[in-house]
Amino acid sequence: VTTVNAERRTRLLALLGQRKADGAAISHLPNLRYLTGFTGSNGLLLVTPRSATLFTDPRYDIQARAETDCAVRVLTGSLWPEVAKVVKKSRLKRLAVEDGKLSYATHRALQGMLAPVTRLVSAEGLTEGLRMLKSAGEIDAIRRAMNLAAKAYQSVIGRVRPGWTEQRVAAELDHKMRMLGAEGPAFETIVASGPRSALPHARPAAVEVGRNRLLLVDMGASLDGYTSDMTRVVHLNKPSRKARAVYDAVLEAQLTATEAVRPGAAASAVDAAARKSLRQRGLDGAFTHSTGHGLGLEIHENPRVGRNSETLLEPGMVITIEPGVYLEGFGGVRIEDTVLVTPGGCEVLTPLAKELQILT
Ligand code: ZN
Ligand code: ZN
Repeated sequence: VTTVNAERRTRLLALLGQRKADGAAISHLPNLRYLTGFTGSNGLLLVTPRSATLFTDPRYDIQARAETDCAVRVLTGSLWPEVAKVVKKSRLKRLAVEDGKLSYATHRALQGMLAPVTRLVSAEGLTEGLRMLKSAGEIDAIRRAMNLAAKAYQSVIGRVRPGWTEQRVAAELDHKMRMLGAEGPAFETIVASGPRSALPHARPAAVEVGRNRLLLVDMGASLDGYTSDMTRVVHLNKPSRKARAVYDAVLEAQLTATEAVRPGAAASAVDAAARKSLRQRGLDGAFTHSTGHGLGLEIHENPRVGRNSETLLEPGMVITIEPGVYLEGFGGVRIEDTVLVTPGGCEVLTPLAKELQILT
């Protein structure tokens, strides 16, 4: 029987030729999970055309055997020296490692252990490339993670009152996500009110959510290992003309960028669509980050949706569309959906309206 993970490893092996490697040692945990099913916090996968072995420590003995279809080797000491021994014994000439994720010290030690038999080459981006295209099962997990986050948002946001702190809003959202069955938030929930919403990655603070202010919530849930991501902005009491204008500009940019999502389009074209829309309102200078990012096992993965993202979109990719405008001293607006690239364009997975919601 070929498992999903075994199929993924076969595809990785096919890519190793690009790097002239005859084996790979995978250490980045989301990639390890993708290729083996293993969800523990310490492990290494050695994959060659002849074998796939997961190395881990005794804490994960039972779990590793239950989760993966690979051979499992449980070691009491550090994993790399043992992997190096096996690599040398199998006389691999070039071993691909995720050098962007290894410490300099580990990379150097490994080089020493393998010389002169085996050379290290880079496996960087190979598994990440496979992960860009989601299977039906992965899309289902992301969809469920998205629906769960949206449900938590809806059950909390209407109860927010002036006097709640940003921290309380975040805590209630996180609590609700867990109560609904999430493994946890997919990242630290962002809640930022008033001028603090001009900080794109504000951490919830012990400050009260004020009357007559913008309130930005950026959140996602983690479910079955998969993430979701959404941002909504509400206004406490009647918004000023300026707040309304900024909101409308961001919403138009978000809708314009979403319309640009289709197979064959460069990710940079989606980013350009958002920027162009904001330029028409003179607000592109206040849009200080990329339009979006892929998500899946990690909250930020390929493809990036920015100025220089050459990736051509394909059905099965899941990305966020999240333009924002940030005005120091005033506040910020970002509107973010998670979207699936489909053969005909895209499907917005975030099941929430985008008109400015006013809390009274
Ligand atoms: Zn987000
Ligand atoms: Zn995002």
